[in-house]
Amino acid sequence: MLVRTRGSKVVRAGSDAGLRTAIVSLHADSPALHEQLTQQPGSFDATLRGLANLNAAGIRTYTFTVVCSLNCDRLGDIAAWGRAHASGTLFFPYIPRRANDPLSISDAQSFQQAMHFIIDTSYVFRSALVYATTVQTRLCRAFTQTVTILADGTVTPCPFVSLPLGNVREAPLYDLLSRAADNAMLEAFLLTPVECDACNIRVLCGGGCKATRITALGDPHGKDLHCQNGPFTGPVAWRQLPECLPYLY
Ligand code: SF4
Repeated sequence: MLVRTRGSKVVRAGSDAGLRTAIVSLHADSPALHEQLTQQPGSFDATLRGLANLNAAGIRTYTFTVVCSLNCDRLGDIAAWGRAHASGTLFFPYIPRRANDPLSISDAQSFQQAMHFIIDTSYVFRSALVYATTVQTRLCRAFTQTVTILADGTVTPCPFVSLPLGNVREAPLYDLLSRAADNAMLEAFLLTPVECDACNIRVLCGGGCKATRITALGDPHGKDLHCQNGPFTGPVAWRQLPECLPYLY
């Protein structure tokens, strides 16, 4: 069993109930920045206490950091903080919520450095890249391999996009997914943009994160907002992928 928590509520009976791993949100290695991002005074100390209690209960802990414009220059320090508190560390790039989102990493070099760090420190992301490269498929598995079912039953291709495909309280999931073939927005969501035609990593990338485009711009057409240097028309070596890819799945 695995649980995601802010760390402020300790899962006292967790280990007895089979809880072995907990993922705790951590936005920075300092109280000031962490609480600037959570907007909750005292949340850093609460996270610290939660981690200590989980570790004391023998539950393996990982911190989870959403990498944004405010903490992208602190990733090595956050990883060191995690190690010092007996936790592994997980990182994921921030998904912009609107045009000119101040938390989005707009500087291309900082974004590439963050992607390098995230991929270099994650076996999961590296193995996903190996798999997608080997079988020549796109990194994003939304709708083709996974869907999201929200608490109210709404089905969407991924958790980051408002693209409702129906509700499992009203129809079986199989029927909803079968009917989705007629959804024009879903078709645009899945298609690789024409402007990516010349790109040598288009099979792997597929035009990037369409959830970002739909959420930020209301428009599924066109390539990923973070792709500032593509299309890549020359050869792209495996080690260069973190500098080219505008997203992770
Ligand atoms: S790297 Fe950029 S140009 Fe290439 S497929 Fe991805 S979004 Fe399109």
